[in-house]
Amino acid sequence: MDLFEYQARDLFEANSIPVLKAKVATTPAQARDAAQEIGGKVVVKAQVKIGGRGKAGGVKLAEDGDDAYVKAEAILGMDIKGHIVKKVMIAAAAPIESEYYLAILLDRSNRSFLVMASVAGGMDIEEVAHKTPEKLAKVHIDPNEGMGQEKALEIIRKGGFGSDVEKQVADILVTLWKTFQSSDATLIEINPLVKTVDGRVIALDGKVTLDDNATFRHPEFEALIDHEAADPLEALAKERDLNYVKLQGEVGVIGNGAGLVMSTLDVVAYAGEKFGGVKPANFLDIGGGASAQVMADGLSIILGDKDVKSVFVNVFGGITSCDAVANGIIQALEILGDRASKPIVVRLDGNNVIEGRAILNKANHPLIQQVDSMDGAAARAAELAAK
Ligand code: GDP
Ligand code: MN
Repeated sequence: MDLFEYQARDLFEANSIPVLKAKVATTPAQARDAAQEIGGKVVVKAQVKIGGRGKAGGVKLAEDGDDAYVKAEAILGMDIKGHIVKKVMIAAAAPIESEYYLAILLDRSNRSFLVMASVAGGMDIEEVAHKTPEKLAKVHIDPNEGMGQEKALEIIRKGGFGSDVEKQVADILVTLWKTFQSSDATLIEINPLVKTVDGRVIALDGKVTLDDNATFRHPEFEALIDHEAADPLEALAKERDLNYVKLQGEVGVIGNGAGLVMSTLDVVAYAGEKFGGVKPANFLDIGGGASAQVMADGLSIILGDKDVKSVFVNVFGGITSCDAVANGIIQALEILGDRASKPIVVRLDGNNVIEGRAILNKANHPLIQQVDSMDGAAARAAELAAK
């Protein structure tokens, strides 16, 4: 789960990483009150889970409460790369002297953590990383060794930090590491970490991703979920432990195994080009041991998607053989009854495929059409969705 900036800021504050006073507002009037309460100059910042807000006009300085009202009015409702701004954070403005960059992330391919640090932080950090990579220190942290004061200082010096701030920044990095571990994060980024004109080092913007697999040991994560943004079908799928992602298309897709489903999406999109640009409506992996109930749950979610015009069930029999899947589909349609109303193209292959196909043929269900090849089935599903 990605956090909003204000949630990241709260996490930093709770862990003693220096931040400035801030409040969240959903209306210009609230923004004015917040700015007056904070006092002095403030920054009005769009709260959206997407990078590049500053460049998109989502971060504006305000002189006082009335100015914060005007700036909030301009930012609220703004569309930043498809994210509509519903909240702004009003934060005390910092007199910035330098902007730094600091990040810790899970580096899956190296089975370790990666710390990145640079004195060339700010909105152009991507360009810095690309054009002058020597300005961005990248150091792996062994999960068993962790990061102490000494290691942190070494990284900070490598990142080009001067002796005036290196001690402060190294302390922040150690605290950041502890926060990263205790909150089961996979990413914590501070950009910019600033040095103010009076020599303080403060985190001005934070990006945090928490590991959803660790939710069971963090009941406090629940309060961080943005229920408003959750797609209702995705929420329902989550309740039923289904691996479902809503997409913007017309062909509902069910498969067993993430790899198979991913390639099914590609094949459907490709086949759909011949039928006026029909596209897959979702990703849904029902996993290896799919029972009739799981198939019914999956089908009911897909059939509940008003954009879906046809369904493509693409199953490769393995541990759960094709006959079991075929029985599952028939039972699922019985469970769903009238709720199943869209054509379903089924492609079975793999373990016990002959038996599986025979079961579906015998059932002779009016909604089911069998196609033996993946490409052929995708084309048929796309054609049905286009009608
Ligand atoms: P981002 O574009 O989404 O990363 O938004 P940031 O919160 O990082 O802000 C973008 C830029 O706005 C920063 O790099 C700063 O240059 C500037 N900025 C943000 N907060 C302040 C502040 O308190 N004072 C001043 N002077 N500039 C700020
Ligand atoms: Mn930033």
